[in-house]
Amino acid sequence: MKNRLIIDSHVHIGPRKFDGLRLAKIQLWHPFEKLKKNLDEIEVHGAVMLPYPEDIYRVPYATKETAQQAHDYILDISKNNPFFFPFYFVWSDFTIPDNLGEFKGVKIHRHFWSEPETYDYSGKACDRFVEAVVRHDLPIIFEESFINTKYFCDKYPHANVIIPHIGLANGRAWKVIPAFKDYPNVYLETSLVYPYEIIEAITQYGPDRIMFGSDSPYSSTKIELFNLLEHEDMKHFNEEDLEKILAKTLLKLLHVRL
Ligand SMILES: [Zn+2]
Repeated sequence: MKNRLIIDSHVHIGPRKFDGLRLAKIQLWHPFEKLKKNLDEIEVHGAVMLPYPEDIYRVPYATKETAQQAHDYILDISKNNPFFFPFYFVWSDFTIPDNLGEFKGVKIHRHFWSEPETYDYSGKACDRFVEAVVRHDLPIIFEESFINTKYFCDKYPHANVIIPHIGLANGRAWKVIPAFKDYPNVYLETSLVYPYEIIEAITQYGPDRIMFGSDSPYSSTKIELFNLLEHEDMKHFNEEDLEKILAKTLLKLLHVRL
């Protein structure tokens, strides 16, 4: 592999095991050591670290304590690993933690097709939360229905929003790509997406608003890197563009100087 700086913009880790896949009693377990070993093998230098939804809100796993532990876990790791960035996963009460400034970003997440509409984006609590996030200059990973994504981005045009999976879980790429093209503060992340949709997104948005991610351990950094880089039409993009997509777009948003 070429000597490039690569950061995975979308990884879940946590201290606990879950009956994560439900189908065949396969347990989901992805502690930092496992992630680090996988990244070292393919010369990837760091990642955005997100807690699992299971630790934040999902029944029957989540409690206030598990949410606290999950956040403490990634904060701890970030102290000794400068290219591993902890994101705060906010639940629908929009609690602003005292240590918000220790995080490098936040995440708002609801699977609109199966989970109830719990976040109220029109309320004061959301306004206060976004105001605090913007004050700390943190980007917001936002996974929601298309209608709520549109509402949120229209309401808070000054917030930097990262739509994961090029909109796969926000109404699909074909809807999301054109809808947010003219929103300069909306970024797209590439995990779990068809290569042609990634290529379409880069072509329309330019590499300054696209960032590589994997959604590991649901996929893996290795698989998603291959998915991103190996399609024939990716060869249209030059090395400078790829450097942005693989790390620099994210690092600029996080104000990380190289
Ligand atoms: Zn994810």
